[in-house]
Amino acid sequence: MMVNIVGGGLAGSECALYLSERGVKVRLFEMRPVKMTPVHQTAFLSELVCSNSLKSEMIENASGMLKNELTLLNSRLLNIANQCRVKAGKALAVDRNLFSQKVTQAVEERIEIVREEITDIRKFNLKDEYLVVATGPLTSESLMASLASFLKSEELFFFDAVSPIIDSEEIDKEIVFSADRYDQFDEFHQPKAGDYLNCPMDKNTYEQFQEALIKADCLPVEDFEKKHLFDRCQPIEEIAKSGVDAMRFGPLKPVGLIDPRTGKEPYAVVQLRKENNSGTMYNLVGFQTRLKWSEQKRIIRMIPGLEHVDVLRYGVMHKNAYINSPILLHDDFSSKKCSRLYFAGQITGVEGYVESIASGYFVGMNIYQELMGLEKITFPLETMIGSLFNYCSHSDDLKPMYANFGLLPDLRIRVPKKKRRAEKSKRGLHIMKEFLKGTIKQELNDAKEKDV
Ligand SMILES: Cc1cc2nc3c(=O)[nH]c(=O)nc-3n(C[C@H](O)[C@H](O)[C@H](O)COP(=O)(O)OP(=O)(O)OC[C@H]3O[C@@H](n4cnc5c(N)ncnc54)[C@H](O)[C@@H]3O)c2cc1C
Repeated sequence: MMVNIVGGGLAGSECALYLSERGVKVRLFEMRPVKMTPVHQTAFLSELVCSNSLKSEMIENASGMLKNELTLLNSRLLNIANQCRVKAGKALAVDRNLFSQKVTQAVEERIEIVREEITDIRKFNLKDEYLVVATGPLTSESLMASLASFLKSEELFFFDAVSPIIDSEEIDKEIVFSADRYDQFDEFHQPKAGDYLNCPMDKNTYEQFQEALIKADCLPVEDFEKKHLFDRCQPIEEIAKSGVDAMRFGPLKPVGLIDPRTGKEPYAVVQLRKENNSGTMYNLVGFQTRLKWSEQKRIIRMIPGLEHVDVLRYGVMHKNAYINSPILLHDDFSSKKCSRLYFAGQITGVEGYVESIASGYFVGMNIYQELMGLEKITFPLETMIGSLFNYCSHSDDLKPMYANFGLLPDLRIRVPKKKRRAEKSKRGLHIMKEFLKGTIKQELNDAKEKDV
């Protein structure tokens, strides 16, 4: 049976190679160079549109953990990336042209590539063929419109305005208090725990914070973004610029929040909202921003109680097409509406080069399992790949997400703080190896065993 893949980016190429190496017939549709996206520059498959780094290889880094898992799984694109390395300390950085040329060559050797923009998914006969949509964050508008009518328009997101997400581990609970606005006390006037964490600011701190926000470096606004940007929500730095009190009457309003240490409303409050049920990740409410990432870290650490926190996911505001996967997709990223329609890559809500490669692998693997009459596979939640894809298919409020330790379940043993990440990585990799032995033995045989 033919598998059609639309989008020859990182996810589409990985998926195509996975399937064709197992003898499955694949046809890949890529619109470049016939139609370019606003950021791609070449006609090569798997072009890296921005940085040439696939991030850290260290196991105490979430992306490092994910890459180690992909090595165990024998990811095709990760193998090619390793052949195209340039020196970058502890990171895997590549010669971007060599990388995309080699991926293109590997795909061309075994797969039919059709250089055409797919504008309507109804072009495919989903009774007799599979379709994988892997068109990425810059999916062409006509295809997005076709998906909107096939799926449901309100389940598609075109613009990404995301507040930063922080690791809860280093939040200073001596300063930050838990309370919900106007709902802090029970019927006996006793304090009750709230869902939100609140970072109180006095006048001086607030003014310094506003000053820093105004002066901080922002990313430039690309032409193609202008017509969408700021339509729906203002970045925090723009609110800060509009007047000294603007934030205090907007996202930093303190009304209805009493600091239990002073018994009074603070001058301003930054609220933190839980990002996951276990409370390992929090987002900064109303903090969508276009600040550069280094600036976000500096500014967030100016907030009382957040001086030492790690940022798990930086805020962004850019065009980013993705679907509401928890509503629309099964755990294996197949559509709930049509079982032969799959989604892979950033369009599913994963974010990042390596994450997109991983999702292409995952979809390829599950289509293959189905074709072979085998059970579908989801990876254990202790693995980065398992927890990331679980987030995409089950989150209550999906936002494009890259690999991070906040997604993983807590350790069951006590481990000093400094060693927790490495320990989570080791646990995940051990579980992945055991899982592979039990499920996809062939993959394990193919894989080069690595000391991790
Ligand atoms: C501006 C920008 C910068 C980014 N920088 C980074 C970074 O530095 N590091 C990082 O880790 N991640 C980055 N990302 C995030 C992201 O993970 C990457 O964009 C990644 O390439 C996504 O992989 P993908 O396979 O889902 O999509 P892509 O790699 O974008 O591939 C999708 C492919 O589909 C094609 N296509 C689109 N519509 C159609 C259609 N209708 N018909 C046929 N083909 C179509 C496109 O031409 C493209 O080749 C960035 C994203 C953006 C938008």
